[in-house]
Amino acid sequence: MSSTGQYEHERAPVILLIDDCEDVHRLLKTRLSREAFELAGALGGEEGVRLALEIKPTIILLDLDMPGVDGFEVLRSLKDDPDASDIPVLVISGMHSPHDKVTAFDLGAVDYITKPFDLTELRMRVRSALRMRQLVLMLAQKAQIDGLTGLWNRAYFDRRWSNETSRVKRCDGALSLALLDLDHFKTINDSYGHPAGDEVLQTFAQQMLQEIRQSDVACRYGGEEFAIIMPDTGPGHAVTVCERIRERLESTVWARHPSRPLTVSVGLVGTSGPTLVTPKKWLERVDKLLYDAKSRGRNRVCVADVAAEPPRMADAG
Ligand code: GH3
Ligand code: MG
Ligand code: MG
Repeated sequence: MSSTGQYEHERAPVILLIDDCEDVHRLLKTRLSREAFELAGALGGEEGVRLALEIKPTIILLDLDMPGVDGFEVLRSLKDDPDASDIPVLVISGMHSPHDKVTAFDLGAVDYITKPFDLTELRMRVRSALRMRQLVLMLAQKAQIDGLTGLWNRAYFDRRWSNETSRVKRCDGALSLALLDLDHFKTINDSYGHPAGDEVLQTFAQQMLQEIRQSDVACRYGGEEFAIIMPDTGPGHAVTVCERIRERLESTVWARHPSRPLTVSVGLVGTSGPTLVTPKKWLERVDKLLYDAKSRGRNRVCVADVAAEPPRMADAG
């Protein structure tokens, strides 16, 4: 996990047992009580699927032979639902035939443990599934993080921006988006070398993280361009945050080039309430304001309310 502190915190693993046999629930509850995970239980397939979607367990232990909705049906429902399809399912079943095993694996089960099961073996297999899950999550998260700065990368930004804009449309909440582009950054590379440029990018990323809230999302948008999504934040507050970031960069003295300060230009568009602007249009408006900030002399924040025309200026200093 990164030290930047902007990623979600992990919770203790939750294991959901779906089995119509109460004895199995009792057994696992007493015998797995000292493991480092929480146990949740459902006594039938229907309840199991509902609970899986509600609590999003880390892994699921699933019996196959159940009255009503059986384990195969549960597997199908879970794998068909994008909100549950990633949850690893370990089958625990009294059905021993190769056909049942093949069917369960074909439906997406990651393991098949036959009843009566040995508790030590079950414990090991659960731990192994949890380890595997952890690795998959870690890789998935790594694929969304920019290697140089530790910020979220462009792919993550695109997804998150789309989510946040649809959320604000649903909830009528506030939302702001800022694009930040370092001024004349190319000359840092040209004059002091690429490592000096990299150091600027890393330091600026850290400064941004220190100035934003935990709920804000800082991303590396491109080479020397950054984006900050600020949920529940209207343009009035967002401009204050951006000004803080701008001023802090401007006043930074760089060890490698103390006589060459750096500045940043910022385009910012926010809303305090409902808006009909599409995510794409919103982004275009921010980009346009960033361009305005550049053409008006750089080292400034240009801001607009998504509902108000035309954009107004919040000049530097
Ligand atoms: P402007 O004020 O108009 O934004 O000028 P600029 O020089 O900042 O913009 P330009 O787009 O001309 O140059 C961006 C530079 O950023 C060019 C590229 O070499 C550099 N860059 C992009 N990614 C990295 C990186 O990861 N490390 C370093 N050191 N430089 C990078
Ligand atoms: Mg640029
Ligand atoms: Mg630039």
